[in-house]
Amino acid sequence: MRPLTYSRARDVGDAIALAAASPASAFLAGGTNEVDLIRAGVSRSGHLVDINDLPLTAVEDRPGGGLRIGALARMTDVARAPIVVRRFPAISRALLLGASEQLRNMATMGGNLCQRTRCPYLRDGVSPCNKREPGTGCSALDGLNRGHAILGTSERCIATHPSDVAVALVAFDAVIRTAGPGGERAIAADDFFLLPGDTPEVEHPLAHGELIVGIDVPGEPLGIGSVYLKFRDRQSYEFALVSVAAAVEAEDGIVTGVRLALGGVGTKPWRARRAEAALVGGPADEAAFRRAAALELDAAVPRRYNAFKVELARRAVVRGLTHSLRGARP
Ligand SMILES: Cc1cc2nc3c(=O)[nH]c(=O)nc-3n(C[C@H](O)[C@H](O)[C@H](O)COP(=O)(O)OP(=O)(O)OC[C@H]3O[C@@H](n4cnc5c(N)ncnc54)[C@H](O)[C@@H]3O)c2cc1C
Repeated sequence: MRPLTYSRARDVGDAIALAAASPASAFLAGGTNEVDLIRAGVSRSGHLVDINDLPLTAVEDRPGGGLRIGALARMTDVARAPIVVRRFPAISRALLLGASEQLRNMATMGGNLCQRTRCPYLRDGVSPCNKREPGTGCSALDGLNRGHAILGTSERCIATHPSDVAVALVAFDAVIRTAGPGGERAIAADDFFLLPGDTPEVEHPLAHGELIVGIDVPGEPLGIGSVYLKFRDRQSYEFALVSVAAAVEAEDGIVTGVRLALGGVGTKPWRARRAEAALVGGPADEAAFRRAAALELDAAVPRRYNAFKVELARRAVVRGLTHSLRGARP
C-alpha cells in the first residue's frame, strides 16, 4: 500500500502553495479521474490538494457575448447554464454527451481538461507505455488500437485525448486561465493540449502547482448555430470513436465563417484548420463539405484496427456542417 496524504485548500494562493510544497502532489477536484488512476496505480500522486472550497464555480457573462467558466464548475451546471445553451449549444451538448449524469454532477471543467487518456495500455499499469513509463514503448502501435488516434500521432504514442467538451472549446478558441507559482497565464486551448511527439508523458503545459482557475470563451455569433455530434459504440456512457464540433454560416450559398474540430481521432482535440480554410469563400454544399473533410483526413495515419475512423470522421464532418447550416438539431 502507498501512503497518501490530503489537505484542503482555503483559497487559490493556498492551493498553489500546498501543491508546490510537495513534488508528488496533485489537485483533487471531482476526483472522478484522479482517484481512479491512484487506485489503478497509474497516478503517482502522494499528496492530494482538495480544491473544492475555492470560489471557482461560476458560469458568467463576458462582454461581447463570451463566457467565463470557473474551473470548478461542474459539467452538469455548465451544460445547463442558459447562456451556454443559448450561445454555444455545441459546448452544452458536448458536456451532456460525456460520461453519465452522476459523473457529470461531480466532475469539474478543470478536471475534464486534465483527464488522462483512456488508452487501456496506460491504464492497465503493466504494459509498455511511453506515457506511463517513458522509454518503454507504445503497446498500441501493434496492439488493439481500434479506439486510438489517426491524427497527430507519433511512433511513441497514438492515444486519443478523451474529453468531449475540449473539442468544442478548441473550436471556439477558448482560453485556459491559470495561476501558479510563476504567476498568472492565459493559454489558448489549442496550445494547452500537446502533441505526443517524443515526449508523450507531457500532456499539457501546466507547471507543477499551476492551477486552472477558469476558461474564457470569446464571443462568437457562429456559436449560436453550433452542433456537437458524437459517434460511439453505444448511445450513452461511452467515449467517442469520432466526434465533431461544427458551426458554419453562409450568405448567398457561400461559406462566410466556419468552426470545426474533431474528437476521438486525434492525440489532442483536433481543430480542423485545413478544412476550415478550404471551406471559407466556397460553396456551402455537401460536395464542398466532403472535399474539406477529405483534405483534413489526408493527414491521417491509420493503424491495423482503426482505419474505419478515417471514413467515419469524413462523414461526421459532413453531417456536422450540414446540421449546423440547416440550423437543425441533430
Ligand atoms: C466511466 C467514465 C466515463 C467517462 N466518459 C466521459 C466522456 O464520455 N467524455 C468526457 O469528456 N469525459 C468522460 N469521462 C471523464 C470525466 O469527464 C472526467 O473524469 C472528469 O471530467 C474529471 O473531472 P474531475 O473534476 O473529477 O477531475 P479530477 O479527477 O479531480 O482531476 C483530474 C486531473 O485534473 C487535475 N485537476 C483537476 N482540477 C484542476 C485544476 N483546476 N487545475 C489543474 N489541475 C486540475 C487533477 O490533479 C487530476 O490530475 C468519463 C469518466 C468516467 C469515470
